[in-house]
Amino acid sequence: MLSAGIMRIPMKNIFLITILFFTFSVAVSGASEIKLNDIHRPESAILFIVDGLGSSYFYPELIPYGVDGLEISKAVTGNLTFGARIIDIKTPIPSTGQAHSVIFTGFSGANEEIVGYPDATIYDITRRHGFVNLAVMEKGDFQTLRDEQDIILFAQNNSIDEPLISIQANKAPSGVFELMYDWKMKLPEYLEKKKDMEKYSAYNKWGIDAANALAGYMKKNHPAQRFLLTVNVGAIDSGGHNLGEDDYYRLIEYLDRDMYPLYTTANENNIALFFTADHGMSFAAKNARRGGHASGNYAKMLESLRIPLVIMSPNTVSGTIEGKFNQSDLAPTLMSVLDLPNSLAYADGKSINVKNYASIFVKADKEYSVSLWNNGQKVSETSGSELIFAGLPLDTNYTLKAVSADKTHEERLFLDSDKLVRFDSGNGIDLRGIVAIILILVVIIGGLLIIKRIKD
Ligand SMILES: [Zn+2]
Repeated sequence: MLSAGIMRIPMKNIFLITILFFTFSVAVSGASEIKLNDIHRPESAILFIVDGLGSSYFYPELIPYGVDGLEISKAVTGNLTFGARIIDIKTPIPSTGQAHSVIFTGFSGANEEIVGYPDATIYDITRRHGFVNLAVMEKGDFQTLRDEQDIILFAQNNSIDEPLISIQANKAPSGVFELMYDWKMKLPEYLEKKKDMEKYSAYNKWGIDAANALAGYMKKNHPAQRFLLTVNVGAIDSGGHNLGEDDYYRLIEYLDRDMYPLYTTANENNIALFFTADHGMSFAAKNARRGGHASGNYAKMLESLRIPLVIMSPNTVSGTIEGKFNQSDLAPTLMSVLDLPNSLAYADGKSINVKNYASIFVKADKEYSVSLWNNGQKVSETSGSELIFAGLPLDTNYTLKAVSADKTHEERLFLDSDKLVRFDSGNGIDLRGIVAIILILVVIIGGLLIIKRIKD
C-alpha cells in the first residue's frame, strides 16, 4: 500500500507541473498585433530552392565563365526573374547540407546539427505563429530538417534512375498525407520512357508539380491555415555533375518553363514565393562533361558561390536590389516579408529591405503599456509583452514608449527596415517566471506533505 501511494504521488506532481508549464508557455507565446495601415501581407510562403542553380547562368547582368577563364553557356529564361531580385548574393559555403542549413537558420556558420537546436530555424518561428511547415524535397533535407516539418515528401536517395521517395509525417493537416502519397506514386509516370536530360527535367517537374498541388490543396481545403512550404528540386545539380555544361543550361531553361504554374498559384493565392539555390555550379571549360561546386578549384569560383534570390510577394517592391548580400540574409528577409519577428537564435544575417513598409516588433520580459509616437503625436497604444506594430511608412522617425508599474523605457527609431526592440526590466527574473516557480514549488511541497501523511 505504502509503496504504491508513493509511486502515485510523484506521477501526479509531474502531471500538474506539466500542465503548469504548458499554461505558462501558452501565455508567453501570444503576440498581439496592430496593423497601422492597409497592408497587403502574404498569408503563406513557398521557399523554393533549386539545388545547384548558379545565378551566373541566367541573371541578365551576369556572364558565366569556366575555370579556364573563358565564357560558357547561359540559359534564356522568362519566369525566373519576376519580383524583387537581389543581384549580388553568395553562399558562404558551396556544399549542399551546410548551404541549406544557412538558408534555414540565417547563420553563415550553420550546419545540420545547429538546424536541430531550439529556435534555430525559420520553422521554429513560423510554428510559434500558427503556421504549418510543409516540404517537398529531392535534395538538401536531413534528419534535423525533416524533424522541423509537420510533413515532408522527400527523396531518400539521389538517384534519378532508381528514386526512393518517402514521407515523414509529424502533425500533418488532414488530407495532406494522402495527397503526398498520390504524388509519390505518380513519379514513375513522369520518368517513364525518358532518358538523359529529358529524364532529369521530368524529375524536377515532378517536384514542382507536387509542390504546386500541395499549395493549391492547402488554399482550397485549409484556407485559414497559414503555411510555409519548402521545396527543393535536385536535377539541375545532378545534371551539372553528371551530364555536363551544355545540358546544365538547358535544364535551367526547362525549369523556367515548368515553374510557371507554381508562380501562378502563388500569385493568385496571396502566397509569397522565394526563389533561390543552395549553391551554384562550375565547369572546367565549355562542353565539360562534368561539373562541381564543393571541392578544389570549383569551390572558389563565383559560378559556385553566386546564388539567385528572387522574391514575389504582395508587400514587396519589384525590380533589382543592389548591394552585396549573403545567403544568411535570406532567413531574416523571409521573416520580415511574413511580418514575423526575427528571433532566430543563431542568425548573423540581416533582413534585406524588400518590403514596402516597416514593422516594429516588441519583445519584453513582462507586460508593458506601449505607445508609438511620430512628431509628438501618439499614433498607437497597446499593452503586452510581445507586440507587433505592422505597416509603418519606411524611412520615418518614431519614438516607442513602454511603461510598467516600476519602469519606463523610451526608444527612438529610424525605420529604414523592420525593428525588433527588447525591453528588459533588469531584474533577471520576470514576474511570470517567479509566479510559475512559486506554483511549481507549491505543487511539490503539497505532494511531499501528502507523502508524509501517508507515511505517518
Ligand atoms: Zn546542392
